[in-house]
Amino acid sequence: MWVYESVDDAVADALRLSRAMTFKAAAAGLPLGGGKGVIMLPSAGALSRRGARTAVLRDFADTVEALSGAYLTAEDVGVTTRDMQIVAQGTSHVTGLPRKDGGSGDPSPWTAIGVEIAMRVAVERRLGASELAGLRIVVAGLGHVGARLAKACAKAGADLVVSDIDPRKRELADRIGARWVDPDGALSVQADVFAPCALGGVLSHATVGRVGAPVVVGAANNQLATDDVAEELAALDILWVPDFVANAAGIINIAVELRPEGYDPRRARADVRGIGDTVRAVLDEAAAEGITPLEAAMRRARRRIAEARALTPSAA
Ligand code: NAD
Repeated sequence: MWVYESVDDAVADALRLSRAMTFKAAAAGLPLGGGKGVIMLPSAGALSRRGARTAVLRDFADTVEALSGAYLTAEDVGVTTRDMQIVAQGTSHVTGLPRKDGGSGDPSPWTAIGVEIAMRVAVERRLGASELAGLRIVVAGLGHVGARLAKACAKAGADLVVSDIDPRKRELADRIGARWVDPDGALSVQADVFAPCALGGVLSHATVGRVGAPVVVGAANNQLATDDVAEELAALDILWVPDFVANAAGIINIAVELRPEGYDPRRARADVRGIGDTVRAVLDEAAAEGITPLEAAMRRARRRIAEARALTPSAA
């Protein structure tokens, strides 16, 4: 749920986000396609009238219900757990509800675990490091995922540097013994790993020359402003792990919720560990074919989509 200036902007965002979800699910080998629902607000105060938010959420639930399970919705930007409980009153096609309501709960802890696994593979490949201890790791964005990732890196003995636009997050930095830098400076800190865990678009033609770490891997969606930034990163000998591979643990966890036998956190943990194998396979293909990790991950996803199409007569 977001404020957009025009319907065209909202449609473009829905298409961009659903494309990313498609690649994410396919690269992870999940039996899921990719979709996103966008609720367009015309202004920040659009829902100030009493009952307006509930009415909008009910309308959204009706739309999801009308798709008869072809689209499954989940909590995302601008939407709370409480909102999703309202949506769930109008449709059963809701995932990621709290465990007590039969869902798989908050995906953020899983996403942080998945990013850490991807990071371990990346530093092994690029730096020959078998552990995170002693590596300087910059975590930019201490939200639901970044805070957990930072704690895990601190626990693993990393030399941790963190940043957030919210100065209240400084308290966490002090608590876990991390050095604080201003958000504008995080990208260029001389480090072993830069982990973008805030918003997208952080890597652009304008910023890529400032990256201070040879490994970039993080939770943020759509880290590249444009796909061709991947080539510039490779030319600078920076190993960038495609975001939709590193941050796929949330959807991997949801896929466990959808299994006929129901949700099992042990199964989720085992499946999330598979992110390590996916990263290895992507980096192997990139090295063997002389292509970027982005191109290798997209080829992997496209192969998976082609396989699924071949099994679906109506999609031929
Ligand atoms: P969040 O909103 O909880 O946290 C984002 C944090 O980034 C906030 O603390 C915010 O203050 C900070 N921030 C914003 N702009 C910043 C900047 N320029 N520099 C430094 N900090 C900045 O979000 P989250 O759930 O932790 O997700 C983080 C990113 O990971 C998002 O891009 C999200 O789309 C992506 N992601 C999240 C999940 C998940 O499970 N939550 C899954 C996949 C991808």
